[in-house]
Amino acid sequence: MSELSISNLQVSVKLPDGELKPILAGVDLTVRAGETHAIMGPNGSGKSTLAYSVAGHPRYEVTGGSVTLDGQDVLAMSVDERARAGLFLAMQYPVEVPGVSVANFLRTAKTAVDGEAPKLRTWAGELRGAMEKLQMDPSFAQRNVNEGFSGGEKKRHEIMQLELLKPKIAVLDETDSGLDIDALRIVSEGVNRVREQGDTGLLLITHYTRILRYIRPDYVHVFVGGRIVEEGGPELAERLENSGYEHYLAGAGPAL
Ligand code: ADP
Ligand code: MG
Ligand code: MG
Repeated sequence: MSELSISNLQVSVKLPDGELKPILAGVDLTVRAGETHAIMGPNGSGKSTLAYSVAGHPRYEVTGGSVTLDGQDVLAMSVDERARAGLFLAMQYPVEVPGVSVANFLRTAKTAVDGEAPKLRTWAGELRGAMEKLQMDPSFAQRNVNEGFSGGEKKRHEIMQLELLKPKIAVLDETDSGLDIDALRIVSEGVNRVREQGDTGLLLITHYTRILRYIRPDYVHVFVGGRIVEEGGPELAERLENSGYEHYLAGAGPAL
């Protein structure tokens, strides 16, 4: 069974003037295949920084700690190597890929991750099936990735990647943001399908508790000021729904 292990991770963001601004202040987190974790925290607490650091975004510089996947040093891997090793990131703000259709993008990603091209005979059906399950029109496959997509279409496309690529560990950064109630349900059902297969460890990053009514996490981690400040089970999410993050922020100082 796969295991992502994040230990005392410290990360700074590289500012345009070259200065380093510390964001993550020592994060410890272990996610195993079959587990669903939620990271919940206020805006600006460093949740996306954590996601990008695990995925290998060049703007974020790791200044301490470690990230391993099944004992392998993730931080030593290129972005491509991380994807091939089984890491997946659904971004908070998915980027446009002009001139590349959804169908080509997914086939290329699948080929890169699996190390061989998917069989033509079965791939078309798999793609169609994935789109159907997420209630996307078949014409969607010919559109350019994220170009002119609505917020909901972007998120459905991210979940379609998740379902087709079958990663070992998936980090979903605010997959719920900007979704109306129907899209939230459709996207959550996709995540739950992946979850039920039991082969993927899920790390859901969110700001609101509402997605957690559809996807009940096994573990909840409260993230404030660049680190985990409290951990518990799903009942912790319910408590946050009522109490908010304010009392954590009070102790975190004025930097936020
Ligand atoms: P969250 O996802 O929890 O809202 P982020 O990880 O996006 O938080 O941001 C954490 C902090 O790091 C914020 O103060 C944000 O302004 C800062 N930050 C993140 N990325 C950059 C960047 N590229 N340039 C400058 N500051 C950044
Ligand atoms: Mg944010
Ligand atoms: Mg964010």
